[in-house]
Amino acid sequence: MRIFVTGGAGFIGSALVRHLIENTGHEVLNFDKLTYAGTLTTVEAVAGSDRYRFVQGDICDADAVHAAIAGFRPDIVTHLAAESHVDRSIDGPGAFVQTNVVGTYTMLAEARAYWQGIADSERQAFRFHHISTDEVYGSLGDTGLFTEDTPYDPRSPYSASKAGSDHLVSAWGHTYGLPVLVTNCSNNYGPYHFPEKLIPLMIAKALAGDPLPVYGKGDQVRDWLYVEDHVRALQAVFERGRPGRTYNVGGNNEKQNITVVHTICAILDRVRPRTDGGSYADQIISVADRPGHDKRYAIDATRIRDELGWEPRETFETGVEKTVRWYLDHEDWWRPLVAAKATERRGVA
Ligand code: NAD
Repeated sequence: MRIFVTGGAGFIGSALVRHLIENTGHEVLNFDKLTYAGTLTTVEAVAGSDRYRFVQGDICDADAVHAAIAGFRPDIVTHLAAESHVDRSIDGPGAFVQTNVVGTYTMLAEARAYWQGIADSERQAFRFHHISTDEVYGSLGDTGLFTEDTPYDPRSPYSASKAGSDHLVSAWGHTYGLPVLVTNCSNNYGPYHFPEKLIPLMIAKALAGDPLPVYGKGDQVRDWLYVEDHVRALQAVFERGRPGRTYNVGGNNEKQNITVVHTICAILDRVRPRTDGGSYADQIISVADRPGHDKRYAIDATRIRDELGWEPRETFETGVEKTVRWYLDHEDWWRPLVAAKATERRGVA
């Protein structure tokens, strides 16, 4: 099949692009604006494939989206392009509304126009797959899990903009019959994660000998999903998912942030010990919490397991070990991003 991937130079999109080229026979068009969060070094390993092509463009630019879709004639659109960093959404929410809401609208309008013009059999098989977050469901207390039926209750400008985009996708399915799919996933981690996000940020700061800033007591709980498990889930959904359906994707790996940071420090102590004999955990400090910080997210991924046979392969322990080792082996990828101040604190409002 021909898969049109938006945001394929970012963290999850690039993992999907690499997976599709390396492990399937699908063709891929990567449509990405290359914002601060996107770099083509993430897809260098597959860029030479004759099943891969790249178009630099903005999902808010209807003409550019139209031309790219018309030229590629996709069977599937997987839509990952977004502004994705919660802290940035606190400082500058406008960009999130523009890219995540208006951009998704533009993708839907162009996908629909294309879909209406193709042959019947192609129209039946076409899918528009929107990639979203569990943050649209709001925050959980100490117990309970988000299911696909949990009411939306977004709390940050980021999650509100993603919730808006999810509703647009659902509306295009109901109103126009566009065969849409939505996945809502938990926090991803793994290779090529931009070093402003928790796990790579802590690795970079630990190695630099800097303080490791943890919001408040670090007792916020996230359900960690290894990015390569996630992209296998995405493939299962766009190949076999039922149009109109939502699938939650989670890693069955609930951890408090402070536990995540201690785990990273313990791995670094073992594989790259500090020269002064100290532990990286000594660098941990508490900083003022993020405004409106959600307490706990946790996913019930029963539907995707029962209907599509997907399950995560990595535990948090195996995935984070792979991730730390990847960052140690790929300093040439992330050090320039750190030098460009990607690790500065944002979103203090
Ligand atoms: P990312 O920030 O790493 O990458 C986003 C990509 O989109 C970048 O390559 C960027 O250049 C591109 N982009 C941004 N604005 C664009 C525009 N206007 N036009 C075209 N391209 C544009 O994000 P990510 O972590 O890979 O997340 C991908 C998707 O998954 C997002 O929709 C996000 O909301 C969702 N998601 C992410 C997580 C996570 O833990 N990372 C969890 C749940 C859902």
